[in-house]
Amino acid sequence: MRVVKTIPDLRGARAALGQSVGVVLTMGALHEGHLALVRAARQDHDHVLATIFVNPTQFAPGEDLSKYPRPLERDLDLLRAAGVDVVFTPSPEVMYPPGFQTHVTVECVTEGLEGAARPGHFQGVVTIVAKFFNLTQPTTTYFGQKDAQQVVVIRQMVRDLNFPLTIAVIPTEREADGLAMSSRNVYLTTEQRQNATSLHRALQAAGEAYTAGECDPQGLRAAALAVLADCGGEVEYVSLNDPRTLAEVDQPTESPLLMSMVVRYGKTRLLDNGLLPASLNTREGLTATLGGE
Ligand code: AMP
Repeated sequence: MRVVKTIPDLRGARAALGQSVGVVLTMGALHEGHLALVRAARQDHDHVLATIFVNPTQFAPGEDLSKYPRPLERDLDLLRAAGVDVVFTPSPEVMYPPGFQTHVTVECVTEGLEGAARPGHFQGVVTIVAKFFNLTQPTTTYFGQKDAQQVVVIRQMVRDLNFPLTIAVIPTEREADGLAMSSRNVYLTTEQRQNATSLHRALQAAGEAYTAGECDPQGLRAAALAVLADCGGEVEYVSLNDPRTLAEVDQPTESPLLMSMVVRYGKTRLLDNGLLPASLNTREGLTATLGGE
């Protein structure tokens, strides 16, 4: 596995991989969720390129940029064991040299949900992802369901700016008790960690209500909120959206829905989401539904 830190070295390493490459973008502190993306890339392509970069521009002031975990050697061992060919780990100065002044903005689909909660977040995400796409030239790039809005936003950018690549969406990898894996779970106290299973249980309750015939967003939210009543944290939002446009849905509908939620434990925000019907939460269902072709 080659580890490269500069743009010229990355360009050289990328050229040596040939045409067909699966690309996985990460901020490091890797867990099984990231590795599920790498495994999918490995299955689909002869070569896999991964990036590790804690992108400062997607953190708002007061967020956890300085304390975000950075266990680089461990991450590299995990990527090596997973069969990655090239890892790009640039410094902030390499990605944002003095004089940097270009930003990419995606409009409507960044307005609600995490876009509303974290002003500036998606402009930071979209700009760095556009740079990484230009530099790594993916055949297929792999994103996690965990950040469903991010998938919709990146798909929009890929369409609008004509990036010649395919996006695959990989289902959320979970701990045995249902908690969605996240690099931020390490911030939780023992008690918060126990309570944090509420998010998955709330999604399951909404999924069961949906299967039982509930298609009114009010009823589906009520099913989730009944579980979250005991979550021991502060519910920031539980939202039902059209999975293609991310428009909020407030009327009963037969169309698939994206249920997203954020619960705050102290300063830690935990996100989770699922498609309704729950049978769509597979690679195929997610890839087709979160934006479609
Ligand atoms: P991050 O390092 O948090 O920027 O995440 C890098 C990629 O891994 C993103 O596409 C995430 O959506 C994805 N990811 C993060 N957590 C999970 C998870 N639990 N299951 C599947 N994918 C995930």
